[in-house]
Amino acid sequence: MEIEDRIIIALDYQTKSEVQSFLSTFDLSQKYSPKIVKVGMELYYSEGPKILEYIKSLGLKIFLDLKVHDIPTTAYGAIKSLSKYGVDILNVHASGGIEMMKRAKEACLVDTKLIAVTQLTSLDDKIINSELGINENSEDNVIRLAKNTFQAGLDGVVSSPLEAALIKKHTKIDFLTVCPGVRLAENTNQDQKRIASPKWALANGCDYIVIGRAITQPKAPDKIFVDLCKGAFS
Ligand code: C5P
Repeated sequence: MEIEDRIIIALDYQTKSEVQSFLSTFDLSQKYSPKIVKVGMELYYSEGPKILEYIKSLGLKIFLDLKVHDIPTTAYGAIKSLSKYGVDILNVHASGGIEMMKRAKEACLVDTKLIAVTQLTSLDDKIINSELGINENSEDNVIRLAKNTFQAGLDGVVSSPLEAALIKKHTKIDFLTVCPGVRLAENTNQDQKRIASPKWALANGCDYIVIGRAITQPKAPDKIFVDLCKGAFS
């Protein structure tokens, strides 16, 4: 895969007009322009499924990041409802358990990849130990959840870049790793904890990197995208 096909831009906006304004900074016919975008809860809950049609009409692929997490029957129904929109990637929470993931996978159309969030990149060892009562470090927790996801027959996981290579070692090389928690400069963590640079992430087992604020907030996102594709930001 070319680098531009491995960058997923998180469209963390409330409205279609904000999305339009952001995307209008790019010439989408250019090689070094966004190919996949992520629609999360903020945008989907506010604009509904019509935002997916709009993004598809621009020729972009979609990762619909709604992180389904419920009892198996409800997760099945949710993925069945979302699957009909024909997006490229959908997700659930791996902590919903193997049975929930299996049911979700049954509901997912074959052309849509189903992946599972392992441990949010905003959580570190201290939080999972003291607040969630998980007596493991983040790496062991993520590996356990990734193995469960693999066993349930899903296509891959969401993890921090720090765990991507290890996940492939414990599952298989083409088990997808989709990695947020990517930062372009020092001291820009914001609410993320388990982070890495794009260059490091892409060289260390991440199939896709997810980039939100580091590209949506600056004034010239098109320039950042081109620089990313040319391997800047180590
Ligand atoms: O702005 P930033 O690059 O931190 O955005 C990361 C995106 O990835 C957000 O849309 C967030 O919801 C999503 N995400 C994450 N950690 C996960 C799963 C998804 O940060 N484990």
